[in-house]
Amino acid sequence: MIEGYRRVSGPEVTPDGYPLPLTFKPLTKHPVVVKKEGLELKQYPERFFPGKEELGANEIRLTCIGSGNPIVRRAQAATGWLCELGNGDKFVFDVGGGSVANLWSLEISPAELDKLFLSHLHLDHVGDFHVLFDGMGWARNTPLQVWGPSGYSEEMGTAYFCDLMHKAALWHIESKRGLVPSSGAVINAHEFDVSQLSPDNPRMLVYDDDGVKIYAFPVIHCIYGSIAYRLEWNGLSFTFHGDGSPSSFEAEQAQGVDVFMHECFLDPVTFSKKANIPLEFTKLIVGEHTTGDKFGQLMNIAKPKLGVAYHYFLDDDTIDPFFGLYRQTCDMPIVLTQDLMVINITPEQIVTRQAWTNPLHWPSPAPPDKRGDTELATRSKAAMPQWIKETLIRSD
Ligand SMILES: [Zn+2]
Ligand SMILES: [Zn+2]
Repeated sequence: MIEGYRRVSGPEVTPDGYPLPLTFKPLTKHPVVVKKEGLELKQYPERFFPGKEELGANEIRLTCIGSGNPIVRRAQAATGWLCELGNGDKFVFDVGGGSVANLWSLEISPAELDKLFLSHLHLDHVGDFHVLFDGMGWARNTPLQVWGPSGYSEEMGTAYFCDLMHKAALWHIESKRGLVPSSGAVINAHEFDVSQLSPDNPRMLVYDDDGVKIYAFPVIHCIYGSIAYRLEWNGLSFTFHGDGSPSSFEAEQAQGVDVFMHECFLDPVTFSKKANIPLEFTKLIVGEHTTGDKFGQLMNIAKPKLGVAYHYFLDDDTIDPFFGLYRQTCDMPIVLTQDLMVINITPEQIVTRQAWTNPLHWPSPAPPDKRGDTELATRSKAAMPQWIKETLIRSD
């Protein structure tokens, strides 16, 4: 068992009574939100151990694989979430730098993690794209399926991005031909045309299979082509908003969801001091994001059962200021996300915990229906020169 990255003793709560980061407790005073009173509530272990808990037939589990932002830290990968449904479906939302190590540690075969939904193409949301793609051959022998928005121009859209990522992996893919199956070395882009969205057509259905509906709708963030998602299944729902400045439109699109997952950001002065970035720049950067008080205003419109704030800078001295700002505008249940936080959603309740994973976990085997095509292709024509091959030190 791992005792966390560093906190093995010392204080466990902030002056305002919130758990501190890295204490294996969710950063909230509402770890359990009861949706319907009077029903029998499922009891969960204090911590989530991967592979030890079956999901109920009508249950969603959300796991944060990256709670951070571009300033990747050992305990905070850049943004990413895993969604698992009780029907066996699994979806990854954004894949920021460092997030795939967390994803692999959840003891799910990478072969099952082939559906990726991108909110926008900032690198802190796609930085581990190649790491996820590199499950090919040794774990995933089916194409990686990627959903995402169109851009201002064709070159700024998700399909073009996927094409470039595939091209950038050319040497890698060629080198593996004939060594391992090539069937996973494929990226299928499902780009949707966000120019179709308008006040009269506020969201579009971008995924509809096996009772799962995923909608996309635009958010305000830097430039054209940044969106949020709303997933609905079996009467349960959540939204994931990527990044963005607070807008009444996005909050309206999230109305009535169980879980409202939205980015949040430090105030410009603290951000400037912590990150050593001039205040004139941090003011501009924070203007593209959402501070705690604005998060509360979004919550007042969306009225979810639980708010989930990610993309924040966790430190011992940043927890109380976030909740302080938030409480200026809202008193609804909210949790501040750290890596490997787990949220279980059922018709009766929403439970938030921390996962305890094995950092040395090897990938789990693919289930029989996800093994894909394991034929070997012929080796690449891009052979090394014969003269260097002849110097190989052989074992016989
Ligand atoms: Zn971001
Ligand atoms: Zn962004």
